[in-house]
Amino acid sequence: MTEPEGGCACGHVRYQLKSAPMFVHCCHCRDCQRQTGSAFVINALIETDRVERLAGETEAVPVPAPSGRPHVVHRCPVCKVALWSHYGGRSQLSFVRVGALDEPASLPPDVHIYTRSKLPWVVLPADVPAVEGYYDSKDLWPPESLARRKALFG
Ligand SMILES: [Zn+2]
Ligand SMILES: [Zn+2]
Repeated sequence: MTEPEGGCACGHVRYQLKSAPMFVHCCHCRDCQRQTGSAFVINALIETDRVERLAGETEAVPVPAPSGRPHVVHRCPVCKVALWSHYGGRSQLSFVRVGALDEPASLPPDVHIYTRSKLPWVVLPADVPAVEGYYDSKDLWPPESLARRKALFG
């Protein structure tokens, strides 16, 4: 796999993913809808030390989370586009916004989550798992991704 590159809208921040992600979420929850102003968000879950910045620093912006989980969004300090997030204070795991990659089609969702708040006109593919809320990663993640997560959190 070529190492995907991405960046913000103004080009100040550029980055590269140093490996494939562990898993890719397409999240249809209300928090993600409100924060993106869109129907869903696509996040590639990857070790933070595998997100190499090629240019620019990000600005860490804490977001009020109705769910109660701490959520910090890293944005371009110039154009403010969101590039990745850390949830629950776990900064070693990054949720990288797939839509900010140069080729977002290279990382299709492995699961659709929180489909209970999915917008009714979004039609999901039949061959990708979809759950009404969250899920147990042991049920869906490949063994090598579970091992990577275990290495990250113990
Ligand atoms: Zn920018
Ligand atoms: Zn969400």
